[in-house]
Amino acid sequence: MKPKLTLLRRTCREAAALIIAREDRALNLPDRVALKLHLLACKACPKFANQVLTLRSAMGKWRRYTDDSGN
Ligand SMILES: [Zn+2]
Repeated sequence: MKPKLTLLRRTCREAAALIIAREDRALNLPDRVALKLHLLACKACPKFANQVLTLRSAMGKWRRYTDDSGN
């Protein structure tokens, strides 16, 4: 049992890397599960994940804006 849990344990640094990576690509299942577990256990990383989401929607708007005005 214990080795499996260790396998899914991520540090905040690793979790942050996964949060950023999933903006660009789909994570594989172990990474998704590990990230989910980390976000449940950690106080700081859910805040960071929210910031990334906010940033993404802001970037999306910005991208659309430049696309519209670029042509
Ligand atoms: Zn964390």
